[in-house]
Order: sequence, then structure tokens, then C-alpha cells
Amino acid sequence: MVKKASITLADGRELIYFGDAAAEEASHPDLRPLPRVEVSSQVRHDPLLGEWVIVAGHRQDRTFLPPADHCPLDPSSPGRLTEIPAPSYQAVAFENRFPSLVARSGAAEGGGLVTGADGEDPAGLVTGADGEDPAGLLITRPGDGRCEVVCFSQDHSASFADLTQDQAALVLAAWVDRSAALAALPGVEQVYCFENRGREIGVTLSHPHGQIYAYPFITPRTTRMLAMSGAYQRDTGRNLFDDVLAAELADGSRVVLAAEHWAAFVPHAAHWPYEVHLYPRRRVPDLQALEPAEMAEFCGIYLDLLRRFDRLFDAPAPYISGWHQAPTRAGRPGFALHLELFTIRRAPDKLKYLAGSESGMGAFTNDIAPEAAAATLRKLGERAPA
Ligand SMILES: [Zn+2]
Repeated sequence: MVKKASITLADGRELIYFGDAAAEEASHPDLRPLPRVEVSSQVRHDPLLGEWVIVAGHRQDRTFLPPADHCPLDPSSPGRLTEIPAPSYQAVAFENRFPSLVARSGAAEGGGLVTGADGEDPAGLVTGADGEDPAGLLITRPGDGRCEVVCFSQDHSASFADLTQDQAALVLAAWVDRSAALAALPGVEQVYCFENRGREIGVTLSHPHGQIYAYPFITPRTTRMLAMSGAYQRDTGRNLFDDVLAAELADGSRVVLAAEHWAAFVPHAAHWPYEVHLYPRRRVPDLQALEPAEMAEFCGIYLDLLRRFDRLFDAPAPYISGWHQAPTRAGRPGFALHLELFTIRRAPDKLKYLAGSESGMGAFTNDIAPEAAAATLRKLGERAPA
């Protein structure tokens, strides 16, 4: 069992240290004069697409602004207080100071949360409440949920691919812990652990970190996967995730690696120039359901994949990596935990932008054949030198 210890930051947010020194790290109080941030969040339903959009509005008391040259994710040192009060840490998770989603219990002291129903609307977000809506199509709900930041290492210049297997195992333990904790919050329907790496995809802090969103709805992509796998189950009596993994392994042309507990492939209809889906061979709904042997093997496999991505171009590729987990309540049967990793870079000097077809219609054009992408990623492997 991973050691952990939590503290409350000066503005009331929770922070959790992970690792053997967690208890000592948690003995350092947050010494910043940090006012509470007024957060308002709501979700609105798009009646044409049947999906929810998060609308977040924040007001900030600007008595605390970190200097631009001070990374807020470094450990604190005398005269330089950051988000992490301890002078050193291994891995840490904490509530985002400016979250898109926020638990309603956090607003019990008058935090200015928009509920849409009470009439209180400090951020002026509720537009549908005043007008007429005879068909009941303009649905607004509170943005119940939580957004957390996970720091993978105290080393500012590292990236996930630089971690040791033990460090990666600690991050995985943090993901497991937070996934279980956030799934248990009232109103949370889905937990998404993800990392955006690289300025090209809008990352403003280079410190190695990821985020976790606990949504008050099932996300559009997961909803699609549940619909497709549900229809497949009804039509064939079989599990779609199982059969896709089996089909990719049987075909083999897009398999990047296949180990004892995990297999990674570029999907037959990949959307992105370099895109890898990593599945445990044993279908499980979420991270909490992984067994120790699966967790142990994952760390080596994931580091291997990230290092292949780093070797694709002269400079480390920007990427998005995210865990697809079963919803916390509805739609759990049959869903398969997996990780999707992709880069928006298709060549050293070319980024894949979401242009008119992708942004306007959700119809993707991929400029690299998935088989060619898989062949390149296979060649870049540590275990099979080119
Ligand atoms: Zn840093």
C-alpha cells in the first residue's frame, strides 16, 4: 500500500503527498497569505449533440500572484513559497486553484458557486434561467466535480519519460488513489486522469505534471464508446473492447508492443498522426481494478512508449495521454480501461491542427497511415533496436 498524507492549503484546498516521506512532507504548513478563490461552475446541455459543456467563471482576489519566473509546482524553499509547502516531495496531488469543476460542498461557506436554481448568480452565468423555455431544452446544472493537479516529480526539468520505474509506480498509485477518491464524491460520474505535454498544446507550466477531472456527467467520447459497445453486445453477445483488442493483435500490422499483461497498438482508424492505445489484456473497468502484476508491468511499458514518442522527432514530441475509465455508476459493465496516447505533431516542423473538418464536423483526416506510424514506433523501441 502506498504511503500518503494530506494537508489543507491556506485557501482550504486539499493537497496529498504520496511516497515513503509523505508524513514528514505533510508536516510543513502552507505559509502563504492565500485568499479563497471564488469559483463558479455549471454544465449546460447541448440538445442537438446530447452532450454537456462546462461553463466556468472565476473571480480572483489578486493579493497573491506568483512571479512569472517562479514555478508554482516546485517544492517550497525559504523565501519562495509554492503550491507545495514541503521542501521536497516525490509525487503530490492537489486541488486546482482555478478549477473548471468544483464540489458543491466547497461552497458551503458562500463560495459563490452558481447552482442555477437558487437565484444566486455572482458570475452572471445563468442566462437560461430568466427566459422562457417551454420545451425544457435549455438545461443547466451545477458543475459538481473536482479538478486536481498531479506533480510527477519535484525535478522541474524532468518529464514523465525521465522517471524511474519506481517513480512511475508512485504516480500510478496516485492515479489509482485519486480515481477511487474522486469517484466517491457526490455527483461525480466519470474520472479522467490525463497529461498534456508541450507548449504546442497549450501547456503553460513545463514542470512535469498532469491533471485529473472528476466530471458530473459521462463525457461525450465515453458516451459514444458505451453506445457502440452496448449495440455490439446486443447484436453479437460479445464485448467490443475485447474483440477490437483481439482483432488488432491478430492482424499485427499496427501492434507496437505486446507484453504479458499489456498490449499497445495504433488503432486501425487512428485519428492522430501518432496515436497508441494501451490495453491491459485482462479487461477491467478502471485503474482501481488493476492487480499488482499489471501495475508493475505498466510502468515499464508506459515509459517505453513515451520514450519512443520522444525519439520520433529531433525534439520531444508534444503529446496528450489520458486514461479512459468506466463511468463511476452507469455504464460500467463491459467498459475496458485503456490509455490513449497521441501527438499532434506529424513531422518535425508540422503540427496537426484541428482545422475546418475536424473542428467543424468532428471528421478527421490523418496524414500518416496507421500501419506506417506503428512501424516507426516499433523501430524506435528499446527492446527492438532499429
Ligand atoms: Zn517546476
